[in-house]
Amino acid sequence: MALTVRRSRGVIVEYGGAGVAFDTNTRNTEYPVFVSHAHADHAGAFKHPELTKYATEQTYNLLENLRWRRLENWRPVAVGRSVKIDDIEVRVHNAGHVLGSVQFEAITPEGTVLYTGDFGMGNSYTMEAAKTMGCDLLVVETTFGAPMFKFPRRKDVAMDMVRWAVMEAIPAGRIPTFKTDSIGNAQEIISLFNGLTKVPVVTARSATRVSDVYRMYGHKLDYVDASSPEGRELLDSGRCVLVTPKGSKLSRENLDVALASGWAAIMNKRSRAFPLSDHADFRELLSFIRRCRPKRVLTFHGGALTKGFADYVRKSMGIDAKPLAAREETLMGPVSRGEMRMKACYDQLIRTIRIPGFEYTEPWLVKEMARRGFTRGETKSAIRHLTERKILESTSEGFRINQH
Ligand SMILES: [Zn+2]
Ligand SMILES: [Zn+2]
Repeated sequence: MALTVRRSRGVIVEYGGAGVAFDTNTRNTEYPVFVSHAHADHAGAFKHPELTKYATEQTYNLLENLRWRRLENWRPVAVGRSVKIDDIEVRVHNAGHVLGSVQFEAITPEGTVLYTGDFGMGNSYTMEAAKTMGCDLLVVETTFGAPMFKFPRRKDVAMDMVRWAVMEAIPAGRIPTFKTDSIGNAQEIISLFNGLTKVPVVTARSATRVSDVYRMYGHKLDYVDASSPEGRELLDSGRCVLVTPKGSKLSRENLDVALASGWAAIMNKRSRAFPLSDHADFRELLSFIRRCRPKRVLTFHGGALTKGFADYVRKSMGIDAKPLAAREETLMGPVSRGEMRMKACYDQLIRTIRIPGFEYTEPWLVKEMARRGFTRGETKSAIRHLTERKILESTSEGFRINQH
């Protein structure tokens, strides 16, 4: 039986006829979905009420507070715990990215696959660094997997932000306004301004809703919602910092807008942007991989700038690495379509005949296998293959599992 990984609007891990889907956003999956964190590009499975979703309680509460509807069929998971799906055990580890973010480790008799989701490597104002662990196949995000993504120390970024807000914007009668991610960076900004200054932080609605959940989990954050009377008063007075989502349209005149994002690392020096990131940068990605000591690395979540990352890993570390695609990958390398298909057919046939002591006729098996999408020819050649290897034995009536 083969342990395989492939990409299909998410990451699919299969072993012995069972499977799990990580961060898939399509309803066309036959497998239970594990959602790594609440960012919309990862949590899409929650748009499909009929799917079974495993996610942390924090992730669930974030989605609920952000008014995602019909969050049915949710099963809670927690860091340090695991869930068994047939022969695949999925263990949950901290990812250090945003509240409730986790990595998933799929453990099978043939080896382990670590799926990172998005992860952060340094301790931040609100998160602890991602856990690293040994694994066979590492499926790693590479959002910032290029040398130009080198983030300064978080403390230095924080000081720059404070300096700009308190010494430039506010004295000039402008409101320092940070456009940023509502989940993660927004809370980092609140936390750093709370810790380093006495300037009140005003938050746009979505940032408020997310921060309320952080507070529920014990994060000490002080902020005022922009639409509350107190928030409006602060904005009128001009003596505050405003935190608002990247895409928001701002109606006030006296705002000085800055971006807070990892992308600031590669932006024009003249644009106001601070490299505050909840992702690993280039060097942190490499050190994460080094610490996990994988046999193979499969990358996902990168763009044109990070195309060379897998090549670099292969050349600099001597670890086989490439971007994960639709094609099935195993511990040893990619599997051809035909081979893969036959392996799936063997697995399915064994599952169908699994109950010992019963015999199955060939026509019945062909019909049963056809319901699962295998042709008569495929089923017949699978029967032949498994009989030759003495996994099945033929009887007067048909076939059964060989119990010797
Ligand atoms: Zn994310
Ligand atoms: Zn992401």
